[in-house]
Amino acid sequence: MSPLDFDSTRLPSPHLADSHEAWRKSVRAFVDREIAPNVNCWDEAGGFPRDLHQKAAAIGIIGLGYPEDYGGVSEGVDLFHSLIVAEELARAGSGGLIAGLMTHGIGLPPVIALGSDELKARIAPPVLAGEKLIALCVTEPSGGSDVANLKTRAKRDGDDYVVSGEKTYITSGCRADYLTVAVRTGGDGAGGLSFLLVEADRPGVTRARLDKMGWWMSDTASIHFDDVRVPAENLIGALNGGFAGIVTNFNMERLSMATQAIAFARVCIEDAANWARERQTFGKPLSKHQVIRHKLAEMVRQVHASSAFLDNCTWRVMRGESPVAELALLKVQATRTMEFCAREAMQILGGASFIRGQRIERIYREVRVMAIGGGSEEIMLDLAARQMGV
Ligand SMILES: Cc1cc2nc3c(=O)[nH]c(=O)nc-3n(C[C@H](O)[C@H](O)[C@H](O)COP(=O)(O)OP(=O)(O)OC[C@H]3O[C@@H](n4cnc5c(N)ncnc54)[C@H](O)[C@@H]3O)c2cc1C
Repeated sequence: MSPLDFDSTRLPSPHLADSHEAWRKSVRAFVDREIAPNVNCWDEAGGFPRDLHQKAAAIGIIGLGYPEDYGGVSEGVDLFHSLIVAEELARAGSGGLIAGLMTHGIGLPPVIALGSDELKARIAPPVLAGEKLIALCVTEPSGGSDVANLKTRAKRDGDDYVVSGEKTYITSGCRADYLTVAVRTGGDGAGGLSFLLVEADRPGVTRARLDKMGWWMSDTASIHFDDVRVPAENLIGALNGGFAGIVTNFNMERLSMATQAIAFARVCIEDAANWARERQTFGKPLSKHQVIRHKLAEMVRQVHASSAFLDNCTWRVMRGESPVAELALLKVQATRTMEFCAREAMQILGGASFIRGQRIERIYREVRVMAIGGGSEEIMLDLAARQMGV
């Protein structure tokens, strides 16, 4: 019988073929070589080397699933290949690493899906080569959940838009070269929103780093736009047609976050099971105490349920469906699984869990951002309820 670990807690999927397993092996080798040995020190230092983006691009991680014309890798690639990247990166036990390294996963898709050919040819190749970084700027100090009411304004003036307003909690906001900014170009509500590509070095852009409870190695910024002039050709997609793009982007972000959350739960199981086998209390290993065995069984139960749900949602998205309600429920299911497993793993490790420098301690600090970012639990449940006609 194989020990309870990261791999033994992955349910077999009918959607995975040899190419997925081969891809998993290469991503894992990259993570074990370039990331895992450095995670603790990068987290304490509050950042990771910028050339990691280029190294990840070189093995195909950054360009995976993007058009070959712009330097991506799409031949023989499906959504399961992309989620394997999220899963294997999560094995290193740092959400901050994934948020920082893969920010283009939320910043670039609007450009690819809606942008003009000129914009795509200008922006996508350096991003997919890991040379330039791109961030997504939707959330504002006045609120992130009520996206349709965002306030940052872009007014047309001759050949330019003039942007004024403020964004906050923006991942990679200080390091990014390009900002995909949701702006109000029209009237009130969802119908007045557009996406605009703002080069971060334009006069009037100022950025400040925010300190956080977790995700230390990912830079999170507040960004001011003080009458920033941006050429009109930087408009991404149709004028006042940005809301649909924001929603599509959210769906994919939620699928990726659910994948990560389940993988983090499996990391917790692996480290807690190892500890439970080794640690002796009352004359026997912790794992021989029924209370502890049941904790591990409960963790696996929840991981299996969440994984099966994830597999089904991924398959539906790959078939061209947009299961908005299920993706919202999946994000809640997956992040609650992560929350439960992080808590129980902390209990199994006891005092050792509270000491910095190991995966469970870091994951525990990262639970809240997973349950709030990309659509909070409350908003996800309400969205799902409305979609289901409640
Ligand atoms: C580390 C980090 C990184 C992030 N990265 C990015 C990024 O790269 N780009 C970006 O645009 N955003 C980013 N975000 C923002 C994130 O998406 C928002 O924090 C999230 O959408 C919630 O918005 P808010 O924080 O403004 O909360 P609010 O919208 O102010 O809501 C506050 C609380 O009230 C609840 N609530 C709100 N409305 C209702 C309601 N109608 N019914 C019941 N409950 C309600 C919410 O669930 C939430 O718990 C990031 C956030 C963090 C913490």
